[in-house]
Amino acid sequence: MRLEPSMKQAVIRRTVRKYSEQRLAPAAVEMDRTAEFPLDIAGEMAALQFFGIEIPSTYGGAGLETVSYAMVIEEISKVNAAMGLCVAVHNGVAASPMHMFGNEEQFQRFLIPLASGRAIGTFCLTEPNAGSDASSLETAAVREGDEYILNGNKVFVTNGGVSGINLIFGRVLPDHKGKNFAVFIVESHRKGLEKGPSEDLMGMRGNPVCPISLNDCRIPVENLLGGEGEGLKIALSTLNGGRIGIAAQALGIAQGALDVSIRYAKERHQFGRPISGFGAIQGFLADMGTRVEAARLLVYRASDLRDKGLDHASESAMAKLFASEAAVEVTKLGVQIHGGYGYTKAYPIERFYRDAKVCEIYEGTSEVQRMIIARGLMKR
Ligand SMILES: Cc1cc2nc3c(=O)[nH]c(=O)nc-3n(C[C@H](O)[C@H](O)[C@H](O)COP(=O)(O)OP(=O)(O)OC[C@H]3O[C@@H](n4cnc5c(N)ncnc54)[C@H](O)[C@@H]3O)c2cc1C
Repeated sequence: MRLEPSMKQAVIRRTVRKYSEQRLAPAAVEMDRTAEFPLDIAGEMAALQFFGIEIPSTYGGAGLETVSYAMVIEEISKVNAAMGLCVAVHNGVAASPMHMFGNEEQFQRFLIPLASGRAIGTFCLTEPNAGSDASSLETAAVREGDEYILNGNKVFVTNGGVSGINLIFGRVLPDHKGKNFAVFIVESHRKGLEKGPSEDLMGMRGNPVCPISLNDCRIPVENLLGGEGEGLKIALSTLNGGRIGIAAQALGIAQGALDVSIRYAKERHQFGRPISGFGAIQGFLADMGTRVEAARLLVYRASDLRDKGLDHASESAMAKLFASEAAVEVTKLGVQIHGGYGYTKAYPIERFYRDAKVCEIYEGTSEVQRMIIARGLMKR
């Protein structure tokens, strides 16, 4: 069993780290303050292939494996979680299912623009009455000749404010057995697709998360991803991979929080010595570091299984559950180490704390992850 990154993975990590520290760290403060998404930086990242990490080069991607993908998300999220979210969702739950379930014509029309970053992607599953219970979604499609007509409301769409291509989950009517789910590729320019204002979020504020409504929105039948009735399968398989991205994001936030906390503990003096000399602070740092390392192992383990084409449903849920709870705990301890200054915007730890929380909520809450994990354990 190999636990060290390969030479190539180490180079990827170093390269992404350098770019993230130079460009994404300074942007993070402004994104958090203004809640605005920097399209110029996204364009720069597109040129560096951040938007097609696992997509083969034939379709404009970087053709990397999942372990490298997780490292990229981790490095970005270490300094700018809102941008890490953009990249994780675009790659993990928009470009990836397009590649896994699309056909050649769809690759040409949608995958190439996604992988090259010309269009930012979304994954639209959640609705006002369908959150954890995605099977109760109400968005409906009716086929009329060579078109589907879509009606419904999606909420909490990450990247929504800047998206060009949206994966909309709905049911095709008539749906007598309640299982005729499908995924529709809907470009943002389609008549009948409307975006609402971005949510005023607690954290991840630089990501334009918004509602999307569909009002008699017509799309050609060629925009169906997979087949009618395959929506649930696509959603579940996509989320197995997507959760690795969110776990890697949580890991990045936790590592970032640990790094700034160590620095602060060494710099801050009280009682005539650095606070890093106190046993209580060392205990905090030890707990934080241990959680970060354990999260990293789970993230790489799930990624490695995915790279080998093995079942990783439970492992990605475990990685997401543990890493997101670790991120919340580690950032909380980080604030404590910073004392009163940790409660101000003078240091990034306050932002890390706010950013971490949502990792326990999206792509399935921690309670839902526990259900998936328990089911997996009982099947063994
Ligand atoms: C910033 C942000 C970005 C998001 N991005 C996206 C996106 O891009 N695409 C998308 O489709 N969705 C997105 N979401 C939505 C997210 O996935 C949902 O919020 C999440 O799945 C929970 O659904 P809900 O909010 O309706 O909560 P609910 O399902 O109403 O849950 C409320 C509480 O009840 C608990 N609960 C529910 N059912 C059970 C059960 N059976 N057993 C035990 N506890 C249960 C939950 O764990 C939770 O604590 C995003 C959300 C946020 C906040």
